[in-house]
Amino acid sequence: MVATGKGASQGVLIKGGNALEKAHKVAMVAFDKTGTLTMGKPVVVSAVLFSGFSMVEFCNVTVAAEANSEHPIAKSIVEHAKKLSQKHGSFAKHLEEAKDFQVHPGEGVSGKINDKIVLVGNKRLMLAYSVPISHEAEDYITETEKLARTCVLVAIDGKVAGAFAVTDPVKPEAGRVISFLHSMGISSIMVTGDNWATAIAIARELGIKKVFAETDPLGKAEKIKELQMKGTTVAMVGDGINDSPALVAADVGMAIGAGTDVAIEAADIVLIKSNVEDVITAIDLSRKTMSRIR
Ligand code: ADP
Ligand code: MG
Repeated sequence: MVATGKGASQGVLIKGGNALEKAHKVAMVAFDKTGTLTMGKPVVVSAVLFSGFSMVEFCNVTVAAEANSEHPIAKSIVEHAKKLSQKHGSFAKHLEEAKDFQVHPGEGVSGKINDKIVLVGNKRLMLAYSVPISHEAEDYITETEKLARTCVLVAIDGKVAGAFAVTDPVKPEAGRVISFLHSMGISSIMVTGDNWATAIAIARELGIKKVFAETDPLGKAEKIKELQMKGTTVAMVGDGINDSPALVAADVGMAIGAGTDVAIEAADIVLIKSNVEDVITAIDLSRKTMSRIR
C-alpha cells in the first residue's frame, strides 16, 4: 500500500497489489500509437474534393458526422472543415444533426445527414459499407501514407466525396522511453488501428522494431494473447476505447492520461500525466517493491 501511495504522488495510479506485483515481470510493452506514442493532437495538413461533389456539402456533412465523436482525429477535422467551408461559401447556419450516429472503433463514424448516409473514416470503414475507392481516392491515400500521414475519407451516399490528410507528431519523450526500455531488457512493439505505411514510418522514428497495424480493437487483444502464448509477460499501454480489450487481455494494462473513461476502467494502472515516461516509473516502482518484499 505504501508503494501504491508513492505511485499516486507521481501520477501513477496502481489499482491494487496484483497489478503492482505483475508489473515487475513485464518483458514486453505493446504501445498503441495514436494518443499514446503520438501527441494525440492531429492536425489536418491538406484536404481534397473529388469530382462531382460540392465543397460546402463535403465540409458540412463532415462536421455534422464528426461533431459527436470523441476521437482526436474528429476534432481536428471538424475545425479544418469549418474553416474550409467558410472559405468556399458559407457554413450552414442550421447544421443538420446526424441521425443514427454510430462510432466504429478503429475505423471512423457513420450517420445519416439530410437523408444521406455519411461515412468518415479509413478504407476499412468504406469496405464495411461496400463503398468503392475510386482511382483518384486511391492515389491520394498512397501519397498521404507515404508521408507518414493518416488519410481520412468522407463518403456521401456510397461514393467517396473527398478526403483529409492528417499528421500527428510523436511525443517528445517517446523515443527516449523506447530506448530506455530496451536497455532494461524490455522489448517494445506497436499495435495500432492506423494504416501500415504510417505505422511503420512512426515506429522507425521511435526505434520500435515490431509493428501490428490496421488492427481493430479485438485484433489488438488477439495480438497481445498471441505474444502471451509464447510465455512473455506483456504490458499494454493505450488511451482509447479501441484499446480496452487489449488493456484487459494484457498482463498489465496501462491507460495513459486524459484518455477515455472506458480505457481507464479497463486498465490495471493509470498514468494520469499522459507522459510515456511513466511506463518506466510504474515498472520501476513494481521492481523496487518486489525486491523489498523478497
Ligand atoms: P490507434 O490505434 O492508433 O489509436 P484508432 O484505433 O483510434 O488508432 O484509429 C484507427 C484509425 O481509424 C485512425 O487512424 C483513423 O483512420 C480511423 N478513425 C477512427 N476514428 C475516427 C474518426 N472519428 N474519424 C475519422 N477516422 C477515424
Ligand atoms: Mg489511441
